[in-house]
Amino acid sequence: MGSVPELPEVESVRRQLHPRLAGSRIRAVHLDPQARFGAVERAAGHRIEAVRRRGKYLLAPLDGGLELVMHLGMTGAFRFRGEDGWAPGEAGFSHVRATFELDAAVLDFRDVRRFGRLTVVAAGDYAGIETLSRLGPEPLSDDFDAARFHVELARTRMAVKPALLTQRLVAGVGNIYADEALWRAAVAPYARRLSRGRSDRLHRAIREVLAESIEREGTTFRDYRMVNGESGRNAAHLVAYGQAGRPCPRDGTSLRKVVLGGRGTTYCPRCQR
Ligand SMILES: [Zn+2]
Repeated sequence: MGSVPELPEVESVRRQLHPRLAGSRIRAVHLDPQARFGAVERAAGHRIEAVRRRGKYLLAPLDGGLELVMHLGMTGAFRFRGEDGWAPGEAGFSHVRATFELDAAVLDFRDVRRFGRLTVVAAGDYAGIETLSRLGPEPLSDDFDAARFHVELARTRMAVKPALLTQRLVAGVGNIYADEALWRAAVAPYARRLSRGRSDRLHRAIREVLAESIEREGTTFRDYRMVNGESGRNAAHLVAYGQAGRPCPRDGTSLRKVVLGGRGTTYCPRCQR
């Protein structure tokens, strides 16, 4: 399943990284020679001020006007050396793409499939990171406004699910939480030109499914792990995503899987209109 991590998974990682990294100095950076990471060595010698999140990106402002930008891709994970069975010689210690020597700890970035990205930019300068530079509002902030969402959704002329996945209407929603929010709002993934009432229902459902998953520390199918190596607990609560053939909890109709905009999409053909 190539969908995670999305906003709740990245936020769960952030909540474990921030207290450990904020205020800590990066003494040295070591990179896998094959990793194509942009200028990450520049982080050496700088202090991490905080670990924040925008959409699916982790953002760590550094002193000296720099910023470390991190994207987990599909299989990226951070682990502290020597904790929770993560150490050279232990089972599973592999695929380390970057290592940060901090004042009081060593942090590894592990990534089996290599879709993860690390880079250092001038603080706030995301011009070279297209998705981040054009990211829509944070769904759990006041910036995610129902009236504006309705207008911008209509303006895309796209079907609603592919429109959500562009990240421009709202940040951080991927395949899992798009399917879940559309089911909850009873909106079909291929619907266009939503009425204000339906758009408002979807706006509310997006916030709810993301907030509930953050409470459960995200959805783990296989690869996603938090910094302590533990899985999230949201997978057992999914109603639509990955549930094709199961009965819709609202009306018992068999959930259907189709491909929409190149992505597997599961929905109820009866109650989602
Ligand atoms: Zn249904």
